[in-house]
Amino acid sequence: MSSYNLLFKPIEEYKKIGITKNMLAKLHKLGIKTMYDLFYYFPRAYENVASYKKIKDIKDEENVIIKGVIKSTQEGNPYKKPHIFKAIISDETGFVELIWFNSKYIANNISRGDILEVNAKVKKKFNLQMVNPSYRKKNLFSKQEDENYALEPIYSLTSGIKQNTLRKLLKEAINKYGYLLQENLPMDFIEENKVMERKMAILNIHFPTDEPKKQEALRRFTFEEIMMLEMSILKNKYIANKKNKGIYNLDDNKLLVKKYISSLGYELTKAQKKVITKIYNKLNNGEIINALIQGDVGSGKTVVSLVMLLYMVENDYQGVVMAPTEIVASQHYINTIDSFKELGIRVELLTGAIKGKKREKLLEDISNGLVDIVIGTHAVIEDNVLFHNLGLIVIDEQHKFGVQQRNALREKGALSNLIVMSATPIPRSLALTIYGDLDVLVIDELPLGRKPIETKWVKNDIELYNMYEFIRKEIKKGRQVYIVSPMIEESEKVKGNSAINTYEEYQKIFDKEKIGLLHGRQNIKEKQEIMKDFKDNNISILISTTVIEVGVDVSNATIMVIRSAERFGLSSLHQLRGRVGRGEYNSYCFLESFTENEISMKRLSIMENTLDGFKIAEEDLKIRDSGEIFGTKQSGLSELVLLDIVKHIKEIIIVKEYVEQYLLNNNGEIKNEILKLDIYNKIEKIERG
Ligand code: ADP
Ligand code: MG
Repeated sequence: MSSYNLLFKPIEEYKKIGITKNMLAKLHKLGIKTMYDLFYYFPRAYENVASYKKIKDIKDEENVIIKGVIKSTQEGNPYKKPHIFKAIISDETGFVELIWFNSKYIANNISRGDILEVNAKVKKKFNLQMVNPSYRKKNLFSKQEDENYALEPIYSLTSGIKQNTLRKLLKEAINKYGYLLQENLPMDFIEENKVMERKMAILNIHFPTDEPKKQEALRRFTFEEIMMLEMSILKNKYIANKKNKGIYNLDDNKLLVKKYISSLGYELTKAQKKVITKIYNKLNNGEIINALIQGDVGSGKTVVSLVMLLYMVENDYQGVVMAPTEIVASQHYINTIDSFKELGIRVELLTGAIKGKKREKLLEDISNGLVDIVIGTHAVIEDNVLFHNLGLIVIDEQHKFGVQQRNALREKGALSNLIVMSATPIPRSLALTIYGDLDVLVIDELPLGRKPIETKWVKNDIELYNMYEFIRKEIKKGRQVYIVSPMIEESEKVKGNSAINTYEEYQKIFDKEKIGLLHGRQNIKEKQEIMKDFKDNNISILISTTVIEVGVDVSNATIMVIRSAERFGLSSLHQLRGRVGRGEYNSYCFLESFTENEISMKRLSIMENTLDGFKIAEEDLKIRDSGEIFGTKQSGLSELVLLDIVKHIKEIIIVKEYVEQYLLNNNGEIKNEILKLDIYNKIEKIERG
């Protein structure tokens, strides 16, 4: 253990590898400050060097790499110039004479019996000769002696440092100080999962003897990264859970909850009930809730969160709902007011648009506990919003919020239960990772009687014309239509079907219909009025931008038209499509796009052929960079070199399960000292700093 700490000493203190001042500056530029850093400066790629040539197969003037044993050496007169050093190397098939000029160092370094790999052009004289070959002594770690050395590391460099310099440095470092590395993964984990041991893995990630060994090394370090991450996350969760146990003392009568549920006019789905029960059980067990409710668009997440809010309110706590946009916030507000009015609950809307005296009064009422539920945008996390007794936070449409915002909100209550609702369904296992400290609850069922949304990709003018006719018929039946454009206004740079152009077009095509226009540049009052008109069916066609992407819920709307559909990501298309199909009627989605781009065409046909948000999310992940989607870059995960949350789901699950059990067995403590040190140095120190 004590010698292990040496790894974190400045690299210039390691005399045996002789780092010059100049080189030190370069290493610092690469982020290498300690021996640990050097060992963990992994190659960005490898190059295939030829495998060893048999000596008997060598042709004249051929450039080869051979491996063999030094049979004899002969040094010329050390006082004469040029200084000459000769050696005979042999594999099982023949001999080659090696000659070095003016290299006393080499003469001292090579002796009979050494196993060498040498590389140079071969000359056929009366015997085979190599002049000044580069060589590598093969005594690093004896196990690999017999295998062909086929891969050379390629490192990311900074100017002034050469590939070979780094290779040499790493070889030396591993050779001389590799022994300092102690295992940081628990032994039972290593055995159970057949993980390559740490020293061996460091050698093989830099200088793999072959592809399988390289893969094993990579696998090991992937496990190592996940282990450190999960240990750190889950340990904190374990401690928080323990500390917070029993803070809430809840009366389980559920009077309001029961009233509310019976007023719904429909039966909750099994999946909804399951999620609600799970949360109840935790709350009643004295645990703090920190959960992600995940479910496809329209699976009924909102009602689940309302039930939980009611439960807290009837226990005299306040609740807050944070939505990503003002439109969604006000929609929630309208819906909630409607259903909560009769229960005698005070719900208030708090957005940036509420100002002056009205705001002051509202803030006062919130801090006095006169308001039961606050619904708003990010305005609710501002410093001047104080709660009297905040018991539950609901965040709708999580993907629009960063980790920091989530945490800021959580700090509002003495101890806030948190429910995050994600409308971007992602595979459960993936969610488990990204939201590491959240319990993931899945609503994996749609309410009964939902009709599938028929989706049609509109590819040309004839189909477009047919679509107009179809819309006309639906409106005649009393239904309503959304038309979504990728932008408000056309500009020099971005041509296409803007909302404003569309509005003008549609006024001509549908001159008898009531048409509304909704976009982000309108003020909140205008937006609310238009949404209300649409909800009351005073408007038949609503032209908008993606402001309606999430949360808007008008069950009489049965057609969604998405213009320039190639401009949207798959998840966005799916979200938008989810705005229809919410009522008793058949619903339709038209994707307007004349694109000939292959990727776009693939996306559109995925949309045409599947309604399963999980499948769509997976396809989307394949196309997009996962870090960008989940904001991992701001969450400390960026320190990880190898881990790819999409690619390594299997490994992540293995580690997560192991760590949960480990912490349980060890009362929330990391018993493995080496691992603890690494976590401190690699994760926790960085997060604090
Ligand atoms: P999500 O937020 O998951 O996309 P919502 O909560 O907005 O879905 O629900 C979509 C619609 O389905 C709403 O109109 C809601 O009233 C309705 N709904 C929710 N649960 C049920 C259910 N169990 N049975 C029938 N309709 C439901
Ligand atoms: Mg919703």
